[in-house]
Amino acid sequence: MLDTGMNILLVSSEVAPFAKTGGLADVAGSLPKALALQGNDIRVMMPRYRGIQSHSIVADFPVEVGGRKETCIVRTGYIEAKSDMGTRRVPVYFLDNYHYFDRERYYMFGDEPLRFGFFDKACVAACEVLGFRPDVVHCNDWQSGLIPLLIRERAKENDFWKDVATCFTIHNLRYQGRFPRDVLRQLGIGQEHFHPEGLEYYGDVNFMKAGIVYSDVLNTVSETYAKEIQTPEFGEGLDGILRKRSKDLYGIVNGINYHEFNPKSDPRVYATYDSTDLARKRENKHSLQRELGLPVSDAPLLGLVSRLVDQKGLDILLAAMPSVLAQGCQFVLLGTGDKFFEDAFSELARKHPDQMAAVIGFNGVLAQKIYAGSDLFLMPSKFEPCGLGQLIAMRYGSIPVVRKTGGLADTVMDYDGDTGSGNGFVFSEYTAKALENAVKRALNLYSDKDAWQKLVREAMEMDFSWNRQAALYTELYIEAMGRKGRVERPA
Ligand code: ADP
Repeated sequence: MLDTGMNILLVSSEVAPFAKTGGLADVAGSLPKALALQGNDIRVMMPRYRGIQSHSIVADFPVEVGGRKETCIVRTGYIEAKSDMGTRRVPVYFLDNYHYFDRERYYMFGDEPLRFGFFDKACVAACEVLGFRPDVVHCNDWQSGLIPLLIRERAKENDFWKDVATCFTIHNLRYQGRFPRDVLRQLGIGQEHFHPEGLEYYGDVNFMKAGIVYSDVLNTVSETYAKEIQTPEFGEGLDGILRKRSKDLYGIVNGINYHEFNPKSDPRVYATYDSTDLARKRENKHSLQRELGLPVSDAPLLGLVSRLVDQKGLDILLAAMPSVLAQGCQFVLLGTGDKFFEDAFSELARKHPDQMAAVIGFNGVLAQKIYAGSDLFLMPSKFEPCGLGQLIAMRYGSIPVVRKTGGLADTVMDYDGDTGSGNGFVFSEYTAKALENAVKRALNLYSDKDAWQKLVREAMEMDFSWNRQAALYTELYIEAMGRKGRVERPA
């Protein structure tokens, strides 16, 4: 075992608070803080998108892409890890290239493989230039999927990379980064890797598959999802290769940052509160109703904050809405995504102005007001690798109603009226009826004020912080180093 901290490089295309479209950013912004507080030298690399403020420039070097030499400029910044013991700064390196990253959004341009191919190559080169030799490089999702392969290749010619272990985390298997074969030539990656046991996928190059195949260990963000993705139903076409690596595939549920997501000190909510002071939570509900033009009342208020995409179970939610609203509750939705869902929920809100408000857009402040102001939080997902919404909701005393899949199954236990155990309402079948029944059970309990408040208090007091989960990542890194013969594997 190691008796000192490790050198860790975490690579992600999104890191909160600098760039966020979903849960990946939350993880990449908060796991490093917990690892730093546990005594590791952890550093983070991400692209420098337009608008990111940085401090000094610490390096620049050329990276070959598409037959051209592109310049990578390395700028620095940091994220601050605070605990009762003090503050530590986690260095963040922003890899900058005007052509690839100075654009109005993060994704969905035609040249994704070159943008992130550049980024992956630049991450490897930057370590050498900066003289930061990691024990473990932790890559996340397809945007950093080529790095384990690039490190293996580089290790053949440069001892700097000898025995450096790699860990790859799948945050969502649906988004794979699949591109035409020619990308290999453009990125200068050898054609010998283009075969079904390598990064080839039905005639294309697949960045996610590269991460899965070439990393020393891999994990996903809940134990249930780690099992699910090894089946054809959830495997998104990669279940075969995942079954092959099943001995190296782990599940670690995400945590949330307890400093950022703290109802007692959150500057974004209308009135701060904790589990001993639920009257103040009620103030949040009334303020939210006022802000969104709903009648101010004690009717149960359901919330949803989500990307509006197929994965999130919005089709069954739409089908269940008439019967849910007929039970006299209110519903507040915040989300952006597929136009079909944006229009359908907006239309529903227009039809039921006294019961429903739909805000289409991405708004971090309003999101927190909804977590704080709602009684119930809906996540009827078709699949959900981990899900952060339900964890944030519980911390703010909004009881989750979830489908039993992925990380939702690992973090929300169904309420049992006989024993009082459980922290939410869970349904299994992917149908509107099953969702309606779960909401109905929740609303029944809501009318029993004492039982409801007990449930809310208990949910708020559960521990979904990063502390415990970061320790599991440390074990995973040690496991990865064990594969390289670097350390004794823990018993
Ligand atoms: P996913 O990563 O699939 O989007 P998660 O539940 O893991 O889902 O994480 C979603 C995160 O993004 C949560 O922190 C949630 O509050 C936030 N979020 C999602 N949609 C919005 C939105 N429209 N406005 C603000 N925050 C949002």
